[in-house]
Amino acid sequence: SSSSPAAEPLTVMGAGLVGSLLSLYLAQRGHPVRLFERRPDPRRTGQLEGRSINLALSDRGWRALEGVGVADAIRQVGIPMYGRTMHDVHGQLTYQPYGQAGQAIYSVNRGHLNRTLLDLAEAHSQVQVSFGQQCLHLDLKGQQLQLLDTASGREHTESYTRLFGTDGAFSAVRGAMQKTDRYDYSQHYLEYGYKELTIEAGPGGSWLLEQNSLHIWPRGQFMMIALPNLDGSFNCTLFFPFEGPVSFAALQTPAQVQEFFNREFADALPLMPHLTKEFFEHPTGSLVTIRCFPWKYDDDVLLLGDASHAIVPFYGQGMNAGFEDCTVLNQLLDQHGDTDWPTIFSEFQAQRKPNADAMADLAVYNFVEMRDRVADPRFLLQKKIEAKISSLYPGRWKPLYAQVTFSHTPYAEAWAAGQRQDAIMARLMPHIQTEADFDTPEVQERVRQEMEQVAGA
Ligand code: FAD
Repeated sequence: SSSSPAAEPLTVMGAGLVGSLLSLYLAQRGHPVRLFERRPDPRRTGQLEGRSINLALSDRGWRALEGVGVADAIRQVGIPMYGRTMHDVHGQLTYQPYGQAGQAIYSVNRGHLNRTLLDLAEAHSQVQVSFGQQCLHLDLKGQQLQLLDTASGREHTESYTRLFGTDGAFSAVRGAMQKTDRYDYSQHYLEYGYKELTIEAGPGGSWLLEQNSLHIWPRGQFMMIALPNLDGSFNCTLFFPFEGPVSFAALQTPAQVQEFFNREFADALPLMPHLTKEFFEHPTGSLVTIRCFPWKYDDDVLLLGDASHAIVPFYGQGMNAGFEDCTVLNQLLDQHGDTDWPTIFSEFQAQRKPNADAMADLAVYNFVEMRDRVADPRFLLQKKIEAKISSLYPGRWKPLYAQVTFSHTPYAEAWAAGQRQDAIMARLMPHIQTEADFDTPEVQERVRQEMEQVAGA
């Protein structure tokens, strides 16, 4: 049709991180936006969100926030983490930088980020936000939404012309699409759950651990991590098997929890005065990977964020990937104009699906690295060698973590290069026992030969 952008009313379902950012993007392009959200207004209830209290925000997320002019405001309340600090069972620390000097991922508060984006969205004259509106059903053919007004318990119907499903991992919008012919869908749960705990602030809101680091207690089959908060506390997450001899199921009493932490996380335990209370009061979260396709229904409905690609949290990329969805959609709107939705939706899912799949694999891969490999001296040596190769062959050897975290290289490309490089390291490392071995003529020659093949690839 020849309708102008301003005449096209768009509907966004779900005002989480991605839905509120997406609404801003669409409104800034001149579209009127109706944004529906199941929860009550989080700025009024001030309630704790159901999931991680803080999140690691990195380059892909920052770029998306820059696109709506909010990056600087968020950066001021983010805490840079320049590397990971590993805590062994004796409390010995090892440090590994994430990237080059000055490169960091940022610990940001989920609630604050969501509220900031909502404030901006609501302040925009084009956006109308309705809280307490739960999407129950969707009539895809008739383009109608069935909503439950959670305060009154009343149901009502709304029609839409263009609907964006940003209602998270258990998306109702996707639920309707799943019932259509030839719809691909899979969900996979890890046998691990997670529990959020707190390391308290020190006197005067000081940090009792290094605050510019992401802390990891890698223990092979499980781990705990901690990210800093502005008030001096750390938000800890224990990733732990649901069942088995060492598991949530095996920790049933405060004494058992205390004893377990004393054995495994002895240096953290004194900083966690509310451990046992929190352990039994906080819910145990589950960890799911969701894949589906297509992400669109005709040119009426499009899924973004966790609704189309929920991943496990070990690369700190779920939100970043969802924010990148917004960047990519905005680029496609620039490219094709604001009315060519058929092309935009098709291009969007064609571009994003392989990258979301790669990111899902990367997230699982990083779980093994974080809970197990970072505790292995051979692995840390390998990382040092990789850094040397990278500086010897700038531009040709790209450390995987940096590609995922500090670049805009499509995830699928980063993952393919990472796998190639892992194969090279598997061939090189048997010839390297110490950092100095790297400089021996034999190893140098092997590296040269390997890199020749990379160039030819
Ligand atoms: P959500 O944040 O889930 O938002 C969906 C919204 O839709 C919610 O507001 C919900 O109330 C609403 N909604 C749901 N159903 C309906 C309905 N039927 N009708 C109306 N509204 C509805 N990512 C990172 O980048 N870095 C990290 O460090 C990181 N850490 C994580 C740690 C943990 C423990 C977990 C679980 C996830 C982590 N993530 C991280 C991932 C990140 O939380 C998600 O990728 C991100 O929240 C996805 O945003 P979203 O807007 O797509 O979905």
